[in-house]
Amino acid sequence: MEAKGRSVTLFHNTIIVTMDPENRVFRDGGIIVEADRIKAIGQSSDVLRDFSAHVDEIIDLHGHILLPGFINSHVHTSQQLARGIADDVDLVTWLHKRIWPYESNMTEEDSYISTLLCGIELIRSGVTCFAEAGGQHVSGMAKAVDLLGLRACLTQSTMDSGEGLPAQWAVHTTDHCIQSQKELYKKYHNTADGRIRIWFGIRQIMNATDQLLLETRHAANELKTGIHMHVAEIPYENQFVMNTREVDHGTVTYLEKIEFLQRNLLAAHSVWLNDAEIGFLSKAGVKVSHCPAAAMRMLGFAPIKEMLDTGVCVSLGTDGAPSNNRMSIVDEMYLASLINKGREVYKKGTTDPTALPADMILKMATANGAKSILWDDEIGSLEVGKKADLVVVNPLSWSMVPVHDCISSLVYCMRSENIDSVMCNGRWIMKNQKILNIDESCLPFEFQG
Ligand SMILES: [Zn+2]
Repeated sequence: MEAKGRSVTLFHNTIIVTMDPENRVFRDGGIIVEADRIKAIGQSSDVLRDFSAHVDEIIDLHGHILLPGFINSHVHTSQQLARGIADDVDLVTWLHKRIWPYESNMTEEDSYISTLLCGIELIRSGVTCFAEAGGQHVSGMAKAVDLLGLRACLTQSTMDSGEGLPAQWAVHTTDHCIQSQKELYKKYHNTADGRIRIWFGIRQIMNATDQLLLETRHAANELKTGIHMHVAEIPYENQFVMNTREVDHGTVTYLEKIEFLQRNLLAAHSVWLNDAEIGFLSKAGVKVSHCPAAAMRMLGFAPIKEMLDTGVCVSLGTDGAPSNNRMSIVDEMYLASLINKGREVYKKGTTDPTALPADMILKMATANGAKSILWDDEIGSLEVGKKADLVVVNPLSWSMVPVHDCISSLVYCMRSENIDSVMCNGRWIMKNQKILNIDESCLPFEFQG
């Protein structure tokens, strides 16, 4: 039967929301996890009949909902310790006076602690994989991700120009930016049992020379990895690009002109776009991370419906703690739905409750998340052969009962508190709401409750 040392677990009596290409849901489903992968999936009775005799463990999930692990496609692990340092201030104060001084003074140990705390909050909201937006000390991030058991695409914050940079950063040359990321790739890519990948980063166009953009594209293509970049966040950014780079609209128009737009680019936010630019993103296969809470606080209404209608792959992110405060992808699903229904009032004179329906939102947090981080061959849906990255949701509490339609209920009712257990790469990283790989009481903060 199964090879020695490869433990096989059968889960049954669970509602399985597969998020596979047919959007199959098994009302009374069963699933087999062998080592780090899904071996079988189907009706409970079939799975029990075919596999019971050959498994190490049989787990009854008592009607709980089983989903692919959520993917947070834009998160700043470095910023977790900065939660609350920049509430209710304007964007320039936020960036120049609060965030840059904070980030530029971080040590590797700070990055490690910050990522641990961020990771715990991510796991508690059902996230098994995230894309780092570009932060400080990838070595510290990698150590925390490895320990927590999460999966991640880690990225260094990268800037080689721009006004108001802290002295420590202003000295970074283009060459230093590229070389240090290549070294990180060599050291950490595909480590932690393959759970860690290294991406290239561009913090934003106002802090990047053309040389950095082009060399980043070249290096990422050579190493067959992705590029994570903040794109078209504020009108000032577009104006800056028009003034300095001689194009008639903003960042996306310029990136198209220099052939920077390609399928391995993850463009965070992408708020201030015109129709032509949405077309450029679609044609090039660029992925977009929509961060509704951060957008509402700092940026504006992104044309998410238009992007989805044009075939752009849009996923969901929380952004960082100082621009959102809650690092819950569960909250972002709820917000993404409401904000984009409400935004229709500007086009139609009335909100549109049919815009971004629950199944689309759930897709953004799972299958589209996986595509956005170029990992959809292994994660993002529950299918035979894919990695066992799972979330168990307990809907039997005041926040979710009664469950008439489980997809709607997951998007419109679920709270982070409904996330019961989380498995990544075939291993439980949270079970019965207890984080398993770290003793939370040992962290330099007291956790209440
Ligand atoms: Zn960000």
